[in-house]
Amino acid sequence: MAMYMPTATSLTDKKVLQHYLSLDNADDTRVQVMYVWIDGSGENLRCKTRTMDNEPKCPEDCPVWNFDGSSTGQAEGSNSDVYLYPCALFRDPFRRGKNKLLLCETYKYNKQPHETNKRHTCARIMREAAKEVPWFGIEQEYTLLDRDNHPFGWPKNGFPGPQGPYYCGVGANRVYGRDIVEAHYRACIYSGIKIAGSNAEVMPAQWEFQVGPCEGIDMGDHLWMARFILHRVAEDFGVVVSLDPKPMPGDWNGAGAHTNFSTLPMREEGGIKVIEKAIERLGREHKRHIEAYDPHKGQDNARRLTGSHETSSIHDFSAGVANRGASIRIPRQVGEDGCGYLEDRRPSSNCDPYCVTEMIIRTCVLDEGAPN
Ligand code: ADP
Ligand code: MN
Ligand code: MN
Ligand code: MN
Repeated sequence: MAMYMPTATSLTDKKVLQHYLSLDNADDTRVQVMYVWIDGSGENLRCKTRTMDNEPKCPEDCPVWNFDGSSTGQAEGSNSDVYLYPCALFRDPFRRGKNKLLLCETYKYNKQPHETNKRHTCARIMREAAKEVPWFGIEQEYTLLDRDNHPFGWPKNGFPGPQGPYYCGVGANRVYGRDIVEAHYRACIYSGIKIAGSNAEVMPAQWEFQVGPCEGIDMGDHLWMARFILHRVAEDFGVVVSLDPKPMPGDWNGAGAHTNFSTLPMREEGGIKVIEKAIERLGREHKRHIEAYDPHKGQDNARRLTGSHETSSIHDFSAGVANRGASIRIPRQVGEDGCGYLEDRRPSSNCDPYCVTEMIIRTCVLDEGAPN
């Protein structure tokens, strides 16, 4: 994807902005609500703001809105309005105060969910599985790029030394871009995102944050908003975030979105039996899952799931305790405890978490693919 990359001269002075952001609005009860949605690419986010007279306390307090779908790959120009249905409300770490970030679902002119709205069916499947109390935790890997599309901090005319010292590294010669990681972490906590941790990754300029455990539909909601905040924080620093699953070809690790999953029976004593049953079903449905695990039905992941660089081959299904070269890993502690959760290592960094979590529930809990 060729995309114009701004030069340093298009960056503005953030100190000048501070004057306006600190204007005294003490007698004004109005708040700014930034509506956020997933666009026609299924990967990128869009946003726009409206003023509300009072602070909304829940998504239902916010009006349905709309946007020009012909500019986001979601409608024809002649019938372009797409509706925004509010679904998850967070505090706004950029504007602060009573201002909000609002995640929305997209609906068509006829009030049917838009084809690119993957949340709608995910929410229904999560309601069907609610009595099993499904928990998810997603490890979001990503790569920081300079505005010229080159990995952030890499030498402009060459490569850093080979992988080895960078994973969980410390020091100016080991990690690039920690300011963005730290700012994002605090912004997520401020917003109410269930962020669980962060670490530097195997490839320099590659990082990870984890969100979870989240119950049901919250997984997709919290991860999408955490991604929005990441792009927005990086924008302030003049750095670009890539969720491409294999940003650098060659001997560099790709980026995934390992999805950790459990149900109540898996978390209870002897739950390993339920975990093993789920793995058996995941093996049976491998192809169906690969199609749901990136926005291009497996084509993105084909570059990443090669069988090397701590991945399994896209063509094979495998599972094992503590095995990071398998499709599914059972964490060692879970093996020892005899209960807990499993880790599906296949989802791509640019996956739609609504599609991934829905497919896991369909297979592991509802057992949809079962032969009659
Ligand atoms: P890794 O060792 O694979 O790098 P991480 O520590 O990065 O693992 O991520 C583990 C994730 O698993 C966290 O997001 C955490 O919230 C999640 N998790 C922990 N316990 C459970 C559970 N019982 N069910 C689902 N997710 C869980
Ligand atoms: Mn991890
Ligand atoms: Mn990782
Ligand atoms: Mn992992």
